[in-house]
Amino acid sequence: MRPVRAVIRGLVLAMLVLLAACGADLPISTQAPSAEPVPTDAAPNPTTGPIEAAPGSDSEIYPPNPGAIVVAIDAGHGGCLDWGVPDPSERGVQLAEKTLTLGIAQALRDLLEADGVRVVMIRDSDEALAGDDYPPLDCEGPPFRDVNGDGMSGFGNDDQPEATRTRDELQARLDLANLSRADALVSIHINSPFDAGQPVEIAFSETFYTDETPWGVDATARLADAIESGVVAHLGAIADYDRGDRGTTAHNFYLVAPPLLEETEERPNRWAQPTRGGLMPVVLSEVGSITLRAEHDLLASDTGQDAVATGLFEGIAAFFEDRPLAARIGLAGGADAVPPSEVPGDGPPYWAEVVPDGPVRLTLTNTGTRAWASDLDLVAGWQETDQPYLAFPPDALEPIGVTVPALAPGESVTIEVTLPPAPDGRSVAWISLREGSELFSDLGSPALQLSSEAP
Ligand SMILES: [Zn+2]
Repeated sequence: MRPVRAVIRGLVLAMLVLLAACGADLPISTQAPSAEPVPTDAAPNPTTGPIEAAPGSDSEIYPPNPGAIVVAIDAGHGGCLDWGVPDPSERGVQLAEKTLTLGIAQALRDLLEADGVRVVMIRDSDEALAGDDYPPLDCEGPPFRDVNGDGMSGFGNDDQPEATRTRDELQARLDLANLSRADALVSIHINSPFDAGQPVEIAFSETFYTDETPWGVDATARLADAIESGVVAHLGAIADYDRGDRGTTAHNFYLVAPPLLEETEERPNRWAQPTRGGLMPVVLSEVGSITLRAEHDLLASDTGQDAVATGLFEGIAAFFEDRPLAARIGLAGGADAVPPSEVPGDGPPYWAEVVPDGPVRLTLTNTGTRAWASDLDLVAGWQETDQPYLAFPPDALEPIGVTVPALAPGESVTIEVTLPPAPDGRSVAWISLREGSELFSDLGSPALQLSSEAP
């Protein structure tokens, strides 16, 4: 049963959420507020700690507990080899797409962190994650990695004509967001519209997502819409030229696409889509056009970059205002490693953490806008795999058998659990919450994944 104090806190929080999020799903309580003490007949679950109040804030993003939200920001392209679109006016690398996207990403990071949100920068400098070593182009960075597991790395050559460097790079970016259990992944790009080999001097914004994601199609489309609207409004407000709004488009660009489970005539190559797709809503925004000189100059200026970042920020804020069921599940006691550390070698750089010995202490936080039901199940299952982590839940997810308190938005609790025994061989556990038939990881709140062995 839900302690009375928690109910009161829940109601107060519900009011906070109501102020911040008109029209959001709200916690429903059938109990009237009461000043009576916590009833003693509510037998405490010996493995469950006290409910930690939502800290509350005046933040724009998730005011009950912005620090429980993680946003992954991907500055498109980067490193010696991948400039994105080079400067069409040939003024140098400081005007290339990779430089502008990093500037916008850093401005967005600053806005999110000032609002109390945790940020994972997929890259925070001019670097690549899956290697950047290609002396023929004077690039002598770290050696290439095979991240997507197709047995190839770097560029195609006589030995591996099918090798596609970009797929390994983008897979590494997805892995970093997934293992950070980000609530959203926003990839920033700048378009270069061409027609018949010639650049077209027009300016517009367009945002891509996939309508094939297994993790919340509606939420993903909503994030894309909100981001597109924000960018169009803020860039349009300062542009002194005509610019367009091409809206959102469902298209399986590698970064937004789910794994290709079945090869078909139209899609004959499973490696053309990620091995492990984003486990949260992922959008790729072409925030503007590099081919119109006036827009290019604006996007290279602090004013233009701040405007785009503000538009992205407002889109992200709108997304979190209406996300009824969501959770952050992490190891307790400061062990919630975000982002994960990089594993050396020539394979995937990011792997699921190794499960601690003995009972596992988990901190669960309600990061949704609605209170949890009182009969929520914490569920877990193992799957044997040689992958860094699981792309999909195991076939069987079983309740761990602990009582999960009906947390109000922003509240947390730490629970000590004993996971089911891992099978032989390297296996990865998928730990999520289930309300009725709704699995939180199916709604875009990535599961906590723990590995039975180090990579
Ligand atoms: Zn790009």
